Amino acid sequence: MIYLEQFSYLLASVLFILGLKLLGSAKTARKGNQFAMFGMALAIVITLIVSGIAGPTQIIIGMVVGGLIGGIVAKRIEMTSMPQMVALFNGFGGIASTLVAYSEYMRFDGAETMDINVTVVLSLFIGTVTLTGSLIAFAKLQGIMRGAPMVLPMHQILNFILMIAAVVFGVLNVMEPAIPLWPILIIVVAAIFGVTFVIPIGGADMPVVIALLNSYSGLAASATGFVLSNNVLIIAGALVGASGLILTQLMCDAMNRSLFNVLFGAVGTDDSTGESAGPAGEQKTVTRYTSEDAAMIMDTVQSVIIVPGYGLAVAQAQHVLHEMTQLLIARGIDVKYAIHPVAGRMPGHMNVLLAEANVPYDALYEMDDINDDFQNTDVALIIGANDVVNPAARTKKDSPLYGMPILNVDYARTVMFVKRSMGAGFAGEANPLFFDDKTMMVFGDAKAVITGLVRALKKD
Ligand code: NDP
Repeated sequence: MIYLEQFSYLLASVLFILGLKLLGSAKTARKGNQFAMFGMALAIVITLIVSGIAGPTQIIIGMVVGGLIGGIVAKRIEMTSMPQMVALFNGFGGIASTLVAYSEYMRFDGAETMDINVTVVLSLFIGTVTLTGSLIAFAKLQGIMRGAPMVLPMHQILNFILMIAAVVFGVLNVMEPAIPLWPILIIVVAAIFGVTFVIPIGGADMPVVIALLNSYSGLAASATGFVLSNNVLIIAGALVGASGLILTQLMCDAMNRSLFNVLFGAVGTDDSTGESAGPAGEQKTVTRYTSEDAAMIMDTVQSVIIVPGYGLAVAQAQHVLHEMTQLLIARGIDVKYAIHPVAGRMPGHMNVLLAEANVPYDALYEMDDINDDFQNTDVALIIGANDVVNPAARTKKDSPLYGMPILNVDYARTVMFVKRSMGAGFAGEANPLFFDDKTMMVFGDAKAVITGLVRALKKD
């Protein structure tokens, strides 16, 4: 039986690794998901059978009930709510590790070795930080909390004290595992730390923290794998932990910030009105344009770069946008899509959204590959994007966006914004580009505006 168990775990681990590899490209991602799902199902079923936790009937009932709940949630979830769901998944991963480690601790009889006690402490701490940190990330993404950084008085000192407390209680728990107070204190300190660790990170830095929490959920699972002496959990957790760290590094690179700076250097505070006003001291106004005006401009241009952002996902305008693109291409206009690495609310959000509308992959350009093209482009058409094109990121030192590389839309001959109002983006930073002389503001829901544009283009 032990051979069957270990062989199944090995097979499951290979499937996870293959799954991850296939997830690296949109074309093979579906297959990658299936490999990983199969690996996970195998690992769970074998664990339940070998450890005698559940028999075949219970396993089938569990799979049907769990599969139904998961299937219904997945079918019903709006595309725009995916980032929040990912944040919650991370949190659930964290709490699962905490609960498993704590229940194992309750079963201890005093004969445990020191390494097991250390991994219990790590599981409890990292798992609980992941839970409360992810709940804060969820609240920020859901709009329950403002997205901008929130800094308490003496914030970093508070975090430092919490870290010291966690280390002290952790050491005490390893030395005196029979005293039940220590694990409780570790959980309490970790729960507070999860909150105080995430609230000062906001605005454009949120993608980094989400990737990091994802990594933590893996590390917590891996530590729990050591507590349970379960190889597949150790490997699966390590894979999530490592890939989450790689994603964190990619997001830091995209923001042009170091991880240290993101975690400890909260920039900007929650004092924005959320509305863009004219440049300091000037009473500038913006001029409204309609879909028909935008279509008339399109009659005269040769090149358009489309910049999609979170608002495109909110409006679910990806299909009609693709239709518009095809009409423009049919007129001989060169059309490209510029994808900022943190556009939307989750890594790869725009790629997934546009793939859903069958936009060909080769029409999508990453920021570094397209930024030099804006200066030779007639129209930068910005649809529901804001922070990723906000020039305040280049110049305004106290902005939450400062230092983040942006798409150089302001170098294009005409800048066209499609959005509903003068409202700011996720980071709460006003956008001075709205007031630029070459900017056209086409106010309205992205789907309604682009549908109007398509109608006008078809009339011509
Ligand atoms: P932003 O959030 O900066 O801007 C989106 C804009 O879309 C808003 O200004 C809004 O303006 C507009 N909008 C909303 N709904 C609609 C609609 N129905 N029709 C038309 N416009 C709409 O998005 P960006 O993509 O530019 O930037 C992403 C931001 O999110 C960055 O700050 C990034 O750091 C952050 N983030 C990214 C994550 C990631 O992993 N990618 C994760 C977490 C945060 P209005 O209300 O006026 O319509």
